[in-house]
Parts: sequence; C-alpha cells; structure tokens
Amino acid sequence: MPETGSKPSDFIREIIKEDLKNNKYGGRVHTRFPPEPNGYLHIGHAKSICLNFGIAAEFGGLCNLRFDDTNPIKEESEYVESIKEDGRWLGFDWGNRLYYASDYFEQLYQYAVQLIKDGKAYVCDLSPEKIREYRGTLTEPGRESPYRNRSVEENLDLFERMRAGEFEDGFRVLRAKIDMASGNLNMRDPVMYRILHATHHRTGDKWCIYPMYDFAHCISDSIEGITHSICTLEFEDHHPLYDWFLDELNLHHPQQIEFARLNLSYTVMSKRKLLELVEGGCVTGWDDPRMPTLSGLRRRGYTPESIRNFCNRIGVAKRDSIVDVALLEHCLREDLNKRAQRVMAVLRPLRVVIDNYPEDLAEEMEAVNNPEDPDMGTRRVPFSRVLYIERDDFLEVPPKQFFRLAPGREVRLRYAYFIKCVGVVKDEHTGEVVELHCTYDPATRGGDAPDGLKVKATLHWVSAAHSIKAEVRLYDHLFTVPNPGDQEDFKTCLNPNSLERLTSCRVEPSLAGAKPGSRYQFERLGYFCVDPNSSEDMLVFNRTVTLRDTWAKIIKAQKLR
Ligand code: ATP
Ligand code: MG
Repeated sequence: MPETGSKPSDFIREIIKEDLKNNKYGGRVHTRFPPEPNGYLHIGHAKSICLNFGIAAEFGGLCNLRFDDTNPIKEESEYVESIKEDGRWLGFDWGNRLYYASDYFEQLYQYAVQLIKDGKAYVCDLSPEKIREYRGTLTEPGRESPYRNRSVEENLDLFERMRAGEFEDGFRVLRAKIDMASGNLNMRDPVMYRILHATHHRTGDKWCIYPMYDFAHCISDSIEGITHSICTLEFEDHHPLYDWFLDELNLHHPQQIEFARLNLSYTVMSKRKLLELVEGGCVTGWDDPRMPTLSGLRRRGYTPESIRNFCNRIGVAKRDSIVDVALLEHCLREDLNKRAQRVMAVLRPLRVVIDNYPEDLAEEMEAVNNPEDPDMGTRRVPFSRVLYIERDDFLEVPPKQFFRLAPGREVRLRYAYFIKCVGVVKDEHTGEVVELHCTYDPATRGGDAPDGLKVKATLHWVSAAHSIKAEVRLYDHLFTVPNPGDQEDFKTCLNPNSLERLTSCRVEPSLAGAKPGSRYQFERLGYFCVDPNSSEDMLVFNRTVTLRDTWAKIIKAQKLR
C-alpha cells in the first residue's frame, strides 16, 4: 500500500518484530480482518482494516478477509457485499483469501464433539434466564448447573439431537466445562452452541445450532493459520477463553492482541446505533453522507487515501479515547487540495448586470485548474453582461470589516474584471436586494490590476446565461455534542441542521456532465462531490468539507504555547 509519511510504529508492530526475531510461527505474519456482516463498515473498521492489512504488507505477510457469520438472525448478504465493496474501495486486496466462519461449521461441530468426549463440554437444559442467574456476578461466584455432570454418552446423544433439530430454540445449549468460580465471568462455563431455527445467508437451513462467537472465532483463526489475531479492547476479557479452547483442542494457537477502538467526536460508531439511525429514518440510509460509514464518507466525497492517512496518523494504543473529527477533515483537505480541480459555483445567487458590457458579447476567461498542480492546466470560463455572485458577498450597508461588494465599491471578479457597484434594485414589497448594477473596467481583464489600482476582495461568479442549475447539499455534524454515545438516548442530540439543501445554485458550464463521485473545489466555498443520484437534468453536489481547517489552527495554537 503506497502511503505518504513515515512508517507507523506501535506496540503491536513491536510484538511482531520480536516474534519474527524469535522465529515464532516460523517467521510468518498472517492477520485477518473479521467483520460480522450485520451492518455496513464504519471509519472504526477502517482503522482495523488498515492495521491488519497494513501490518501484513509491511512484514511480507498475508491478511484474510473473514466474515464472522455465526448469527443468522442479524446477518445478511447485503452487508457481505457492501463490506467487500468498501474494503476494496479503501484500497485493500485479500486475493483469494476470502473466508466465512460458516465454511467451518462442520469442523467446529467436530471440535465441539471432541471437547464433549474429553469431558470438557456438556449439554445444559437451564433456560437462558437461569444460566444468567447461575453465572453469578463480579463479586459472587457462579453456581454449577445441575446438568454439568452428565455422562459423555448422554452429552454426545443430546448434542447430536440438538443438531438434528429435535429441540426448540433456547431449549438446550452446549457449554464449555471450565470454572464457575473463575474471577473472569467469561470462563464460567460459557455457552458454545445454541439452538436457533433460522435460515442462514449462506448455509440456508442446513443448521439449527450455531456456534457462539468465542468458540467460532479462535478456531477460525486457527484453521486459517493466523499468527496475530488483532482485535479491540473489549475482547481482552475473552482472551483467556480464546486460549482455553485452542489449548484444550491442542490446535495451532494464534496470539490475540488487543488495541483501543477508534471513537470519533460528533458521531456514533456502533453498528447497532447506526442501524437505529437508518431504521428510524434519521438519515436516508447507510450511505447518507452524514454517516461515519465508509459508504457515507465515500458519497460525501472522502478519498480512500485521506482515510488511510488518517488511520496511520491516529496510530494504535491500548487506551480508549475520542479522536477529534477535525483531524479526519484535515487529512481530507490535505488530499483534496492536491487533487481537486477548482471551479466556480454560486450557492445563493444574486444577479449582477454589468451596464457598460456589450449585450451580445461573451468572453472566455482563462482559469487555473489547480494552483497546487500546474499539470492540471487551465480551462475557459465564459463571462457576459449578466452574472451571478454570492448573495452574502454584497451588503448595502457594510460594517467595518466587510471588504466585499457594496454600493460605490470596487472588487475583483476572479479571472475576469474589476467591477464597481453603481446601483441596487430592490423588491418593492419586501425591500430585499434582487439585482445589482455594476460597471466594469476593461483595463483589468483577467483580474490583473493596472498599476496602482487595488481592491480588497476577489469574488467568484458565474455567467447567468452560461451557468448550469444545480442542487447543493450542505452537511454539518450529525450530532450537537462531541460524545453522543454518552447520552442516555443518543438520538436526543441529533443535529436538526445537519443537512441544508440549496436548490437554486449555479455552477460554471465546465461542470456539465460531471460524473458522480467526482470532486471539486468550489472557489472560496469548500470541496464538493457529485452525488450518485446526480443526473444530466439536475446536477447534485454534496459538500465534502469547508475550507476552514480547524485542526491546523489547533496545531498552530499548540506550537505557540
Ligand atoms: P460495532 O461495535 O461497531 O458494531 P463490531 O466490533 O461489532 O463493531 P465487527 O464487525 O465485529 O464489528 O468488527 C470487525 C473488526 O473491526 C473487529 O476486529 C473489531 O474489533 C474491529 N472494530 C470494530 N469497531 C472498531 C473501531 N471503532 N475501531 C477499531 N476497530 C474496530
Ligand atoms: Mg462484533
């Protein structure tokens, strides 16, 4: 993966270097990214993908994509497809190493049988409520199930009949026989299999018992020859169980390593909460440009490079924290600044008539496509007698610090001419300014001032007759507070102004036929991306991000301190 900046270094990479030095796992590095297909990937998953695939690439190893599809109730092929699409879009390639935990159902079953035979697992008839009650608490030990000492023969028979579909959902479970007094609740005879008469997105109705995550995950890792099983901190308490299953079964034993999950300010990250937003109609879908999902970020105009760069910069740690979304936006601006073509668009148009400009004339003004990259060349933008400028670039009674257009004042129109405001037309009834009259100075063609002539502002503009109508959607944070996940109900602090639709925008004609997904900088306004639903008839742009870089300010302030 080509990446800017220096090679990342963190405690996980240190562990791997040490393992390589000691020839643990025969010098192999093999990681995996194991999403559960119960929702779309979010930026937190991107951190995990970049880490797993990044490490494999850096150490000459391999990384698998494995769907952890052991819960047929919440999982769907739609999610599988979206996860593959998002992973590829991020820039990662798993070659032919695409796996499903459901591919291992038969093997997992056989391993469960082996544990029963070894007296390490038993069928338990307690109800789910009773199991919870018997489990005890952090301060109280658990109690042993009355079914704990069933004979191996009886357990084998019952487990086989569980598989054969003889019992109803929740009627019996298979449990590991570990230690009901363990200080770690996960070790108090955890459930390995449950009965669930549900159709699985891949195995259909073949199975009516399904393995629990803790049992399926470690064995899937082992079957695939994974060396370093990297997961988030909430699995730290499951680590002993991961080890227990593999040790009892005497299988290849990957090393589980935990790191802190990514949290981002002004959003929520759990798939459960994101699903709630989708199902509750708070957003238009998983790919709503306000969502922290990869599909939402893509539709918003994020580049894969900016997300990978962000993931490298935040690094990997052992302690949970919240990353400022301004850093993500900073990484995005940095990337778009290099690659996005500059164009002119007017979001809230105010009509301007240039009184002394010939009525039938239209000139082509040369405009620079990207001052950061001369190779991107120039284009021609038509200029004519009637133009649009941004409504808030004019004030009839300008306050002191307002340097843009006002009656009697002269400003530069970018790449065009200096114009001076000589008249204001207002709506008779409302008093609203509806049109400006200006004169232009032919000696300033191209926006260059003849000697001595100075203006304090440069405005963007479009020609009324040549520009194209467009809809522009402005986005703000989805939530009004930095940590909505902290609230009792995160949906109470949804930002009512997270979307503003402007339907009478005008963009320069070079944007005719702009392809969905293409990104531009609208001069002075920010970065914008063509929405997938944009068409020839109606161009639709999503504002990706404004030009104001709050992160750069934070860094500058820190340096000054
Ligand atoms: P969520 O809690 O958002 O529903 P999850 O952990 O249930 O996420 P999985 O599909 O099980 O989602 O996650 C796949 C992998 O991505 C796991 O290894 C998980 O640890 C990792 N992951 C999930 N969320 C984050 C995050 N916010 N930061 C870093 N890694 C994450
Ligand atoms: Mg999960």
